[in-house]
Amino acid sequence: MSPPYRYRGRFAPSPTGPLHFGSLVAAVGSYLDAKHHQGKWLVRIEDLDTPRTVKGAADDILRTLETYGLYWDDDVGRVTPAATPNVAMAGVTRPTVLYQSQRTAAYEEAFQKLQAIGAVYPCCCTRKEIADSALHDIDGPVYPGTCRNGVRPLPNPPPEGEGTTATRTMAWRVRTDKLPTVRPEPVEGQGGFDKLSPNGLIEFDDALQGRITQHLESEIGDFIVKRADGLFAYQLAVVVDDAAQGITHVVRGADLLYSTTRQIYLQKLMGLKTPAYMHLPVVVNAQGEKLSKQTLAQPVGKNNAASTLFDALVFLRQQPPAELRHGTVEQILAWAVTNWQPNNLLNCHQLTIE
Ligand SMILES: [Zn+2]
Repeated sequence: MSPPYRYRGRFAPSPTGPLHFGSLVAAVGSYLDAKHHQGKWLVRIEDLDTPRTVKGAADDILRTLETYGLYWDDDVGRVTPAATPNVAMAGVTRPTVLYQSQRTAAYEEAFQKLQAIGAVYPCCCTRKEIADSALHDIDGPVYPGTCRNGVRPLPNPPPEGEGTTATRTMAWRVRTDKLPTVRPEPVEGQGGFDKLSPNGLIEFDDALQGRITQHLESEIGDFIVKRADGLFAYQLAVVVDDAAQGITHVVRGADLLYSTTRQIYLQKLMGLKTPAYMHLPVVVNAQGEKLSKQTLAQPVGKNNAASTLFDALVFLRQQPPAELRHGTVEQILAWAVTNWQPNNLLNCHQLTIE
């Protein structure tokens, strides 16, 4: 018998810098949706891309969430690694957090599963070669499938600065052109492989953005699941972790809307359940750029949490009563959990911050 339905949501920041208003909005939105449904709200630190990870950023993000009253639930069954200062702070035990940097074995296992069903192949193409031969799409070049039927031989001697076929490091891509004929072992409480559409179309209904349809082969191409530097790709890690954490609802920024189809494809290949998705509008600055470290977004302050939280609710079109601006974070969150109306954001893909 499957366990009774319950909501499990998550907030999954990358520790590339302190929390800014854009990431706070995503945290608040996912927290409110989980708590409005009496669900669990987990935090996962997406520190998989170790070259981009900033030392101390993960703990700073966690402290900021606490300052904003956004206390996460325990990721049951997991032990927080001793290396992370996550357990005892000022005598208070923090619930555990999942760190992607500790999850390599789980990603490797998933990767091997994809290998076993013939869904992945090694690829030696450089970025430049792909850019030269690819069609362009919203997410960068569409990979033309060059190495699908075997890594192509490279000139010998190789171009300057590049290895031969034998010495070049290989990335691994997942095929999007034909479905594997071998099916994965069914996973307890999961399942969905046979629901893959034979024409390669991936469709889902986003709670705010409506029906999203993507033809992976022509719009994305075979995408990387393991990088040439040996790190697992974001798309694979997210799918493995969402399944491992039993996530039922993914609430995140709309910048990840078109990653979702790739994630659903991997879920189906691996026989995993697809959660429900809700993509909140992305916060953009006056120049229309997404707030990020690259656009020099200011970190949210820790001294004015209540009024910043109030601003986040206004931004999410929650229409909090004006007097609440002078409330505490607890009062503001209590009002927001009760009165959460995500439908005020229907079809809203981005919102500009003044
Ligand atoms: Zn290649």
